[in-house]
Amino acid sequence: MTRIHIAGPLALAICAVAVSAVWAASEPAAPDNAAASAISPPIVSREKWKAKPALPGLMKEQKITGIILHHTAVRKNFQTSIENKLRNLQAFSQQPGRVSPTHTKPGWADVPYHFYIGATGAVAEGRDVRYAGDTNTKYDTSGYIQVVIEGDFEKETPEAAQLSATRDLLVWLMHTYDLPVKSIGVHKGHAQTSCPGSNFVAALPKLLADVAAQSKRVVNDACSRPPSWPGAHEGCERQPLDKRAEPVSRPSGGKPHEIVQTR
Ligand SMILES: [Zn+2]
Repeated sequence: MTRIHIAGPLALAICAVAVSAVWAASEPAAPDNAAASAISPPIVSREKWKAKPALPGLMKEQKITGIILHHTAVRKNFQTSIENKLRNLQAFSQQPGRVSPTHTKPGWADVPYHFYIGATGAVAEGRDVRYAGDTNTKYDTSGYIQVVIEGDFEKETPEAAQLSATRDLLVWLMHTYDLPVKSIGVHKGHAQTSCPGSNFVAALPKLLADVAAQSKRVVNDACSRPPSWPGAHEGCERQPLDKRAEPVSRPSGGKPHEIVQTR
């Protein structure tokens, strides 16, 4: 796996996705938080899985305001490499096909998701996050980073390694794109679908609590250290992300950790 720092490019398959009208370009979201660069998780880049270029003219730019979680709705596969899975997914995505006995899909520009979390917890880069994802369901994908976790979580449960990889990815995305925990949702919250499956939905409250706790630690760590470059504490003066991460319960009687200002 390679470690990449993404400002832009970065996602799968079966349960998501709709190409609709092109809207005016907004500025790409930019990493702006002091903490983000320190917590970039290992990600299998498009270059590493030998992605083909996105097909021209089919994607619309987006301004990132939230994150949507999906499952692949296909059982976990521990044999095939994540590079092969992404190549297969892209081949499926870029041509018209059948997604259920009654539904077909058009050819999409690229994989519909921005990140793919495999059965082992490995994370791969999908569609460039600057462009909205695609879906087979009826909702507007604009504004969302689409994250898919491999498995059929109506029948299976997520692996511990998948949940920890999802947590780390979400914390990094929150800090990179300045998103609160409450901006993280699931597909069934946006469209008529059971995605990401009842077993994943059951694991969601603890996952989001872990995301909130880790996010708070990241802010505290970054802001309590002396700045290592002139802009390192730029984000520390704003409302800390954890203050916006409601509802997050603190241990009773515990005092919220104060952000240390060093300038
Ligand atoms: Zn979905």
